Amino acid sequence: MASPATFRRSWFCRDELEHQRFMDMNARLLPVNTKVMALVLVAIFPAIFFGGDLRSVGPAVFGVLLFGALQRAAIRLPNPQVVCFVALLGATTMIVIALYFYGAADSPGMALVAWPVAGIAGRYARRVLVVGTAYTCAIAAGAILLAEPGILGTDPLHVTLIVTAIIASASVGAVLRDSDIDNRGAAILDPLTGMLNRHALNTRVPEIEEQSRLTGRPVGVIVADLDHFKSVNDTYGHGTGDAVLRDVAYVLRRELRAYDLAYRMGGEEFAVLLPGASIVETGQMAERLRAAVASDQIEGLDIRISVGAACTAPGEEFAWKSLFERADAALYEAKRGGRNRVVVAGQPAAAQAAAA
Ligand code: GH3
Ligand code: MG
Ligand code: MG
Repeated sequence: MASPATFRRSWFCRDELEHQRFMDMNARLLPVNTKVMALVLVAIFPAIFFGGDLRSVGPAVFGVLLFGALQRAAIRLPNPQVVCFVALLGATTMIVIALYFYGAADSPGMALVAWPVAGIAGRYARRVLVVGTAYTCAIAAGAILLAEPGILGTDPLHVTLIVTAIIASASVGAVLRDSDIDNRGAAILDPLTGMLNRHALNTRVPEIEEQSRLTGRPVGVIVADLDHFKSVNDTYGHGTGDAVLRDVAYVLRRELRAYDLAYRMGGEEFAVLLPGASIVETGQMAERLRAAVASDQIEGLDIRISVGAACTAPGEEFAWKSLFERADAALYEAKRGGRNRVVVAGQPAAAQAAAA
């Protein structure tokens, strides 16, 4: 079964930051879209009585409703960023087709195509916006030229001004978006390591809990802590300590799968969420991370980590707090057992019995 809001790395969405931003902006924009959609329906209503050309009203109503519904459904589908982009460009296409059939390709109605462009600027990265804007300019200008092939010679403003309006909407949207990205980055990224921070984890956990409830797939959690890190600071200075933390973060991310989520929990402690990983896979990943750090010379030093791992039992829903506590207790065991080792927490007998 397709899980909702599954983060899939793609051209549309390259990292966790872009994913979180899309989900948040999409949720904010949908209610606004509903109001604008109602406005569009009201705006085209008089055409039934005065214009008389229902060929334009039909595709407009169909397009606005269909692609609006698709945008709404997107977050429940496996690849929401792609579906939503198709829905936005679909809405643009339907607006243009409706105006073209109405014989009003050069009317002020064409300005409506700036609406989906603003929606793209709000949700997506620059590369997606560039493609969306280029498509919108091409289809809008193309429809006007198709309707009136000689218009560039007689009244070029009908083409140039609509293209300008589209690019202006995209440009203003892009500036707001860039500012928003900077602020979001500062809020969820740890400045030292570039890893996601605890705040990012807190916003992600409810999404994965919901996913786990719907799909029944397991979730693994790994907690790693540097061994005797205080003595690195004490011996080589805080600057070297910082460099070690940066390098360890790099090694951890290098070893993880694209959809695993790594966080700096604070100090010299890291956490990794492994959606879909079984207890065996979680243990294997924990060992892989430990071995990768141990085999690398980090800042010329022999740095080691202790690792605790835990995984939801079959039939057990993922609850961050309890799973983290199990992984953290396992980390404590690893420290007590001599450090530079992995301990995998046992699974609660109650959950296993319930699943049997
Ligand atoms: P253990 O093996 O039991 O984990 O020992 P430890 O020395 O790693 O643990 P302890 O909790 O005693 O010390 C952690 C140290 O991590 C103390 C603190 O100064 C250092 N630390 C925390 N955050 C940072 C940071 O951002 N930069 C640097 N350089 N050091 C940090
Ligand atoms: Mg430590
Ligand atoms: Mg610690």
